[in-house]
Amino acid sequence: MYIVCSDLEGVLVPEIWINVAEKTGVEELKLTTRDIPDYDVLMQKRLSILHEKGIKIQDIKAVINTLSPLEGACEFFDWLRSKTQVIIVSDTFVEFAGPLMEKLGRPTIFCNSLSIDPDGTISGYNLRQEDGKRKTVLALKSLNYKVIATGDSYNDITMLKEADAGILFRPPEIVIKQFPQFPVTSSYDELKQLIEKEIGIN
Ligand SMILES: [Mg+2]
Repeated sequence: MYIVCSDLEGVLVPEIWINVAEKTGVEELKLTTRDIPDYDVLMQKRLSILHEKGIKIQDIKAVINTLSPLEGACEFFDWLRSKTQVIIVSDTFVEFAGPLMEKLGRPTIFCNSLSIDPDGTISGYNLRQEDGKRKTVLALKSLNYKVIATGDSYNDITMLKEADAGILFRPPEIVIKQFPQFPVTSSYDELKQLIEKEIGIN
């Protein structure tokens, strides 16, 4: 029996931090896991920038409320959920994900959380567990699922490696070069075809 683990940002919805950077005009917030592969280094940098600029959780939530899933994402996701089980496995935070999950029809999401002071200052972040994407795949395999994983970036690689089938979706060139073992898809139709091929749905 198959189950799909899908990354969120860059696969189904836009990059949240890039949008926060654009809407707040703070360019340094544009860095993502595509630029800094070490997630902790990246998050510490983001938190110090937020602190420096006085950006609070309510400012970020206001930006997230304006975001929509990527073009074609809802249709693809509805199709996927009609064919198999899907879990969104993301490095985002529950405090960020809400409005976007609503727009995707409230799927199951495994992600991280933030520490927030009463005035809305984001004081830290809490990983649900180390290497949570890969460990989600491991756990599902222990439940006798065959796992198909899809993601776009460095932080998805251990999940893709652990899965029975790992598929890249619109990754940057550098990720394609570094991890040539994974098939690369650039549209939902291509992704759909590879998933169909894997699980034998017509
Ligand atoms: Mg991503």
